[in-house]
Amino acid sequence: MTFTGRKPRSRKKKTAPPSAAALVRMGRRIVCPHCGNDRHFFEVAEEVMLTTRYVQNEDGSFTPQSDDSQILGDIRFYCAECNADLSQYHGRFVEMLF
Ligand SMILES: [Zn+2]
Repeated sequence: MTFTGRKPRSRKKKTAPPSAAALVRMGRRIVCPHCGNDRHFFEVAEEVMLTTRYVQNEDGSFTPQSDDSQILGDIRFYCAECNADLSQYHGRFVEMLF
């Protein structure tokens, strides 16, 4: 019977994710197909449940402890220039959010 000890950790090869600049070169910038805007966007979360925990102090006042928000509805993504619904690009937007 041989005791082999701990398995050596397999070292994962480090592959750096492509930088934002590289992705730009790859043509992954989101461009509004309606007005050509590629700079200003906004995101709307529908039906957000916001839970805030409080502690009641000795004098009866309350102090918030933590906020917890839960998005129940859809998250939509819009062009801030012409308000076009660009929700189809939301996945990419999330990927590129740093
Ligand atoms: Zn637009």
